[in-house]
Amino acid sequence: MKKRSVFFSLLLSAGLIPGLTAGVAKTDGHDHDHAREAKGTYVESLPKAESFKDFNGKVQIERTTVTKILDEKGNVTGTKTFKKNTSDGEFSTQASTGAQKVSVLAVADAQYRAKYSDWQTRIVQIVEQADVMFNRDHSIDFVVEAVAPWTSSGSNSSQILSNLQRSFSGRNYKFVVGFTANSNFDAGGIAYVYNSKPNGSAFSVNLDQGTANTAKAATHEFSHNFGLNHDAQGSGIRCIMNYDYAYTVDVWDSAHNSQISRNKAWYQ
Ligand SMILES: [Zn+2]
Ligand SMILES: [Zn+2]
Repeated sequence: MKKRSVFFSLLLSAGLIPGLTAGVAKTDGHDHDHAREAKGTYVESLPKAESFKDFNGKVQIERTTVTKILDEKGNVTGTKTFKKNTSDGEFSTQASTGAQKVSVLAVADAQYRAKYSDWQTRIVQIVEQADVMFNRDHSIDFVVEAVAPWTSSGSNSSQILSNLQRSFSGRNYKFVVGFTANSNFDAGGIAYVYNSKPNGSAFSVNLDQGTANTAKAATHEFSHNFGLNHDAQGSGIRCIMNYDYAYTVDVWDSAHNSQISRNKAWYQ
């Protein structure tokens, strides 16, 4: 029985090789290279918002969650409970509780933690706000199962994203999202754009631009994790994947909605 499963997993790995070759991570940037985009996973970065903007109300929490608080080594040092508030009439447009629950590890770097003593609550709320569109349009609910400190390093956004990946690969979460106030981070957000189910967690990083703007950036970056590219600037396509509207709209265009519908199976 053992032998058979080893053999089977070898076959599986061999089968994955073409996907992996095509899927070497690239990041989304202004300077992005279209030839590489066609091939596979790459990196996409979002410009910064024009101003700093915090939430001006409560965020929607779709289900009560006991979030674990981890230390640098990944040990659980405590928990924090975030209560469901979408069914008590506080929100006029209720997000349905997503049928597909995806686990998230949210981490904040040293600079972010130095800025906000309530960083744990802050980053959970950002993810809760960032998943409102996913809940509403795709029944996908991002659940922050754990928060952790992160020591970010790198001289630009792309390097900081790969630092996040190196620091938190092999953890059992569908998404690992970093929040940074590192001055070397030269974008509003950055993520890997996968062209197939990622081999492990999906990674993205967002700059502190106030909770409201950071949540917008996080929705955009999570969307890249589902394989979405950008809509052309100047096209008038109202979509959070269009730089022209990334901080102002709360919709995807129909092509991008179809793509999320197809690719959400990656995170089941
Ligand atoms: Zn982008
Ligand atoms: Zn779009």
